[in-house]
Amino acid sequence: MIMSLLSSYGNTKKTTTKVDNFDYRVEQFADLQILRYRVHDFDQLPLKQKELIYFLSQGALQGRDILFDQNGKYNLTIRRLLEAVYTNYAGDKKDTNFVNMETYLKRVWFSNGIHHHYGSEKFIPGFTVEFFKGAIEKTDPTKLPLEKGQTVTQLCDEVFPVIFDPKIMPKRVNQVDGEDLILTSASNYYEGVTQKEAEDFYNAMKNPNDSTPISYGLNSRLVKENGKIFEKVWKVGGLYSSAIDKIVYWLNKAEKVAENDAQKAVIAKLIEYYKTGDLKTFDDYSILWVKDLNSRVDFTNGFTETYGDPLGLKASWESIVNFKDLEATKRTETISANAKWFEDHSPVAKKFKKEDVKGVSAKVITAAILAGDLYPSTAIGINLPNSNWIRAHHGSKSVTIGNLTDAYNRAAHGNGFLEEFAYSKAEIEMNNKYADLTGDVHTDLHECLGHGSGKLLPGVDPDALKAYGSTIEEARADLFGLYYLPDKKLQELGVVPDEDAYKAEYYTYMMNGLMTQLVRIQLGNSVEESHMRNRQLIARWAFEKGAADKVVELVKKGGKTYVRINDYKKLRVLFGKLLAEIQRIKSEGDLAAARDLVETYAVKVDPALHAEVLERYKKLNLAPYKGFLNPVYQAVTNKDGKITDVKVSYEEGYAEQMLRYGKEYSTLPNRNE
Ligand code: ZN
Repeated sequence: MIMSLLSSYGNTKKTTTKVDNFDYRVEQFADLQILRYRVHDFDQLPLKQKELIYFLSQGALQGRDILFDQNGKYNLTIRRLLEAVYTNYAGDKKDTNFVNMETYLKRVWFSNGIHHHYGSEKFIPGFTVEFFKGAIEKTDPTKLPLEKGQTVTQLCDEVFPVIFDPKIMPKRVNQVDGEDLILTSASNYYEGVTQKEAEDFYNAMKNPNDSTPISYGLNSRLVKENGKIFEKVWKVGGLYSSAIDKIVYWLNKAEKVAENDAQKAVIAKLIEYYKTGDLKTFDDYSILWVKDLNSRVDFTNGFTETYGDPLGLKASWESIVNFKDLEATKRTETISANAKWFEDHSPVAKKFKKEDVKGVSAKVITAAILAGDLYPSTAIGINLPNSNWIRAHHGSKSVTIGNLTDAYNRAAHGNGFLEEFAYSKAEIEMNNKYADLTGDVHTDLHECLGHGSGKLLPGVDPDALKAYGSTIEEARADLFGLYYLPDKKLQELGVVPDEDAYKAEYYTYMMNGLMTQLVRIQLGNSVEESHMRNRQLIARWAFEKGAADKVVELVKKGGKTYVRINDYKKLRVLFGKLLAEIQRIKSEGDLAAARDLVETYAVKVDPALHAEVLERYKKLNLAPYKGFLNPVYQAVTNKDGKITDVKVSYEEGYAEQMLRYGKEYSTLPNRNE
């Protein structure tokens, strides 16, 4: 169904006031909920921009297999094996084993592999070895992902331990301090090397006097073969070549319909980078990309974020194609235009501040396609590039993804969560009134100002905080936003409506960091993921430091624990203090202090509170994680094959989309070595 979007065109209140019948909720299984997002205003774009989005979205979908392989070397084989059994199964589909295998496959699709997308622990299959073996044996062998000369038994012997044995590849990314993080992580970024060997390899490459260092190791697997350690680069003619070839094919088409010369140059440089694998070219591309501010359509496509590598060097593949939401962008432009004021007035010590904050661009975008590490689980804000020196010299681009946030909010409305966990009616009303807006503003401040603020002291290694770097960086950006939310400046700028609005975000943040985000963790586990660590770090630290004044309390009511904030103003002061300290740690590269903060506040979980939160959450029957299906784009062509229009539709189901992607966008071999 292609709905008319005319009603929302030019509506300054955006979508939050609009009544419509779009179904945002698709399905729910395990701990996951699948949502749909709407590409508002796509139909109003000129044909050339629709074509550009179409070509870029094809290029985005072609990278899907790369991420599967990066997340674990057996993932492609396992996905294909499961799909073959699933689509050819002739037995009883109500059988518990089959139902549980279907759930398992849906989780593999969602996580782009056999480990949880967020917690990174391996899934426990709810079906038996015997069932799976039997089902495989009944499947036409030509449909199975068999290597040349491999028998069905050999295939089973290869992947069954990986699927069923909890001791084999138990974690995708292991962050446990003191263990060999590479040998204990299942992600496929290193082969045959220890953490020490990898660290030595990259330390030897670094020149401390280089003020414009490339992102060492970003686009390769580090391997040891015949005693020699070297990189296998992901590029045309290198590792993942067959997928990258296809990406380049679509980028070539996109280049021809670029909106302007600046955008054309960006695409051309990206193609050059994919062909050469040269990280200097990647930096050149990043600089061109960050400077292209006038195009309506924008995209990222490549090896981008390093959360999947325990050492934080190697980037997982991802892509997003989007276009600017012109109305909503006014808010973030207002914030960015005042970047210098915010930098000057922050509680950070002067020597750690940027003298000249520039190039912080910000916009609200409408996502048109999500792919790789942004699909189905995705971000609601992005700030790129990641290279510190490029950010310092050329600025960075910040986006908040308006149509995704909107879909989250709409899907969550009235689901009972707040009613269960908020302390009283007052907090619920406050949240209903302000939380959608203040959540958005916090994201804007985090992305537009937080990540771009502050500076490293001369000579400080940007990777000095090692495994703690991501958590500290996210905490820094979050705190910058938290500190400024109550500021009069935001009311003056018309971003926040009044002096009470910020309390909704403060309350939600503390409730989340102290309690409710624990719904995402299994009982007995600690906090691993860096964004979650960051939130607990901030909330626990503020809770403890404000304990004497009872700034924030955990109180019992009817046997249940609630967060109560007694003094919002003092809480702001605490956020400011922590921001100053976190910026100092980042600026000085103080690894010991980073480790101390993270290990003290961010990792450990109170088991009694954790059990209580899980119990209460379970009764609500909600999924803690959400992800999105993509819309389907169809190019309409005339008899000469020329594209005359691009149609967007939203009818595809979850399994349907995943199976289609597995057919249409899957070019890599089972094993990539
Ligand atoms: Zn961030």
